[in-house]
Amino acid sequence: MNQPLSYVHPTANSPWGTYLSQVDRVLPYLGHLARWSETLKRPKRALIVDVPIEMDDGRIAHFEGYRVQHNLSRGPGKGGVRFHPDVTLEEVMALSAWMTVKCAAVNLPYGGAKGGIRVDPKLLSQQELEKVTRRYTSEIGVIIGPQQDIPAPDVNTNAQIMAWMMDTYSMNTGTTATGVVTGKPIHLGGSLGRVKATGRGVFVTGREAARRLGLNLQGARVAVQGFGNVGSVAAELFAEAGAKIVAVQDHTGTIYNPNGLNMAQLLPQSRAKGVAGFAGAEAIADEEFWDLPVDILIPAALEGQITAARAQRLKARLVLEGANGPTVPEADDILASRGVLVVPDVICNAGGVTVSYFEWVQDFSSFFWDEDEINQRLDRIMGNALQQIWDTADRHKITLRTATFAVACERILTARQERGLYP
Ligand code: GLU
Repeated sequence: MNQPLSYVHPTANSPWGTYLSQVDRVLPYLGHLARWSETLKRPKRALIVDVPIEMDDGRIAHFEGYRVQHNLSRGPGKGGVRFHPDVTLEEVMALSAWMTVKCAAVNLPYGGAKGGIRVDPKLLSQQELEKVTRRYTSEIGVIIGPQQDIPAPDVNTNAQIMAWMMDTYSMNTGTTATGVVTGKPIHLGGSLGRVKATGRGVFVTGREAARRLGLNLQGARVAVQGFGNVGSVAAELFAEAGAKIVAVQDHTGTIYNPNGLNMAQLLPQSRAKGVAGFAGAEAIADEEFWDLPVDILIPAALEGQITAARAQRLKARLVLEGANGPTVPEADDILASRGVLVVPDVICNAGGVTVSYFEWVQDFSSFFWDEDEINQRLDRIMGNALQQIWDTADRHKITLRTATFAVACERILTARQERGLYP
C-alpha cells in the first residue's frame, strides 16, 4: 500500500536503512499500535535550504543545509545541528528519527528533529562560521521556534553557535527567544551541567549496565572512539570511577597504553590538537583499535563504525553507544549472539537532550537550578528509564535496543492514535 520514499535511497547499513531495520525489529512488540507504525518510517517534514555567504576573500560560497522534523506527535521537535562535510539529507533523517525515539524513551515531552549543514567548519574563519550559522538559522526560521522545534549542539557545533542561532531567531522575530535553542552559554539562558550531560549520561547508563553484568569498574579497561564533548567527558567520569582508559581514537589517530592513559594530561592536549602524538601512549594503526583487549568500548564518533567484521573481532563485554547510530544492524545481531551487551544510543546518549529539556524548562520559568539539582534529576530520569527498558528486554527476551524502541514507540504511537488523523 505504501511506496518507499522517493527522495532517499537507503542501503542496509546506511543511517536511514539502519533505522528502518530497527523499526522492523520492534513491530512484533507493538500489538494493536503496529497499525500506526508506517508513521515512524516517514519524516513528517524535511526542509532543504541553500546557505550562501560571502567568504573573507570576497568569493560567494553556497552550502547545503537541512532541518528534518521526524515526528511531532508528543511535542515540539528537538534535536541538534551538525556541521560536517559529509552530512546528507538521509543522515539527518535518521538522526531526527533517533531523536524521536530517544525523547520518548526518557519520556521527555518532545518529538524528534535534527539539522545539519554540509560544511567543514575547520576550513572556515570565525566570521565565516558565524555567517553560515546565521544564514542557516534564518532559512530554517520558518519551522523552528520555542514551541515548534528547538535545535541544540551536535557534532562540530557548540554554545557559541547556539548563541548566534538564538540571536538570529530573536532579531528576525523581534523577541529575546532564549527557548529557541538549548546548549546556550550560561548567561544567555543556558543550563549548568549541559556541556557534560551527554557524557555523564553515558557514564550513568554504563555504570548500571556494568553492575548488572558483574563487571567491576575498578580497573576495568575502556576504549573510546571519538574524543569530543561526549567521549572525553565519559572517559573522564569512568577514570574517576577507577576504570583505566587504555585507548582513544579521534580524527588525528589512535593511541594505546595498557596501563591507562593519564586523563589530566590527555584532556588539554586533545582539546588543543587531538590525541595524536600524546607522549604517554604508543600510536597504533586505526584498525587495530577494534582488536584491543578491553572490557568496555565507547563509540562516541559517527554512525556506522561497528560493522559486521568489527563486531566479530571486538573483545569488549559492554558497548556504550555515545554516538548516534554507531552499530549497523548486522553487527547488532553478531554482538547479541556473542553475548556482548550493547546499551543503545537512544538511551545511552540521552543525557544531553534530557538536560536540554531542563534548560528549556528553566528558560520558560526564568528560574534557574543549581548543578547538583540538575545532575540528580538527570541520574534519576536516566536510571528510571533504563530500569523500564531492562524490564521490557527481560520480559520479551529482546536486546536493549529493541526494548528501548518498544518502550518509546508505544508512547509515540499512542500519542499518534489519541490525537487521531487530521482531517
Ligand atoms: N545532539 C544531541 C543528541 O544527539 C542533543 C540534542 C538536544 O539536546 O536537543 O542527542
